[in-house]
Amino acid sequence: MIQPDPTSIDQSAQGREASAGGRTNRSSHKPVLELRHVTCAYEVGEVAISDISFSLFKGEILCLLGPSGCGKTTTLRAIAGFEAVASGEVYLEGQLASEPGLLVPTERRRVGMVFQEYALFPHLRVVENVAFGLHALPSARRAAQVESMIELVGLTGLEQRYPHELSGGQQQRVALARALAQNPVVLLLDEPFSNLDPDMASKMRADLHDLLRRTNTTAILVTHDHEEAFAMADRIAVLNNGRLEQMDTPEVIYHTPSTPFVADFVGQADFIPGMIENGKVLTEIGEFPNQENYPGGVKVVVMVRPDDVHIVPLENCEARIQARQFRGSENLYTIALPSGRVVHSSESSTSVYPVGTAVELQVIATHTVLFKQT
Ligand code: ADP
Ligand code: MG
Repeated sequence: MIQPDPTSIDQSAQGREASAGGRTNRSSHKPVLELRHVTCAYEVGEVAISDISFSLFKGEILCLLGPSGCGKTTTLRAIAGFEAVASGEVYLEGQLASEPGLLVPTERRRVGMVFQEYALFPHLRVVENVAFGLHALPSARRAAQVESMIELVGLTGLEQRYPHELSGGQQQRVALARALAQNPVVLLLDEPFSNLDPDMASKMRADLHDLLRRTNTTAILVTHDHEEAFAMADRIAVLNNGRLEQMDTPEVIYHTPSTPFVADFVGQADFIPGMIENGKVLTEIGEFPNQENYPGGVKVVVMVRPDDVHIVPLENCEARIQARQFRGSENLYTIALPSGRVVHSSESSTSVYPVGTAVELQVIATHTVLFKQT
């Protein structure tokens, strides 16, 4: 019943890596940013982020992904120098920027920031907002820099407007131009699309991705939306409850999540109980390879995604369609198994079967993901 899928996710992951601006050989380059075992606490005894370690390389786009309150903003604040670390270190371009007792001030870190609310100066025109922070430059160079930033974000012609005379998307471009004008070592973006309507957000996402690539900007984008992270990131760091659960390419995160939390957070997942027997995982939807080499008798759960499960109407089968949800490009079926457990199947939008239809399940998992039953 279980057929191996010949397509390999690793190839697409490599393709993505090769396309990341300026990042040809990670091992031979020093990271632009490095966090080593960073812990932050707003109040004594209440840890907001705990033991976070990662490195970021020139031109790379990292998405910090996780539910509200998991510590995404705190991580950015620690990098920007708004928040001191309780333990661990932050390095920017190889220089120690934070450790307990040391907090290099934000203005000396060369980080660019774009926050949810853009924080533009309401009494300053577009040009003045973008020029803010460039006072150290001679005026001719400052004007040239401002002009090229405004052009880069596509706001030419709107230079003399005030923020209230701009749409949300345009305001965000001003905030981006202002941050990029400083030529930051790393650009930090905290849920920058959350105030935009969905159509605008998706256009801005594509534009931002293109802009970051063209300027070879190293960036960290915070989001709670896994689709946004998939669309934008070279690598994704999934945070849960202040801890880093997994950091890898979007493909690896989706196909081989390292924890049930990650599996569930980045897409629909069903967890089917199984038992190791004769070197295989036996479940009620079939056998799976014992990828982790667990010994016989161990109880596990197998993660399956709706795209791994196909259904074929077949009389006398015990699995039955319990519900169908039309999603435009697909039909998402809920299938009741004889045990009462359910599993989901994604079929094309034209495959319409009535509720109650008996179906055979065909599971074609690219990768078998096993977790030990707890
Ligand atoms: P996210 O950005 O992922 O939603 P945050 O980094 O804002 O999460 O918050 C992480 C944790 O720190 C949460 O438990 C939150 O309640 C707490 N926290 C955030 N800001 C403060 C603050 N200024 N004072 C006290 N606790 C805070
Ligand atoms: Mg936040």
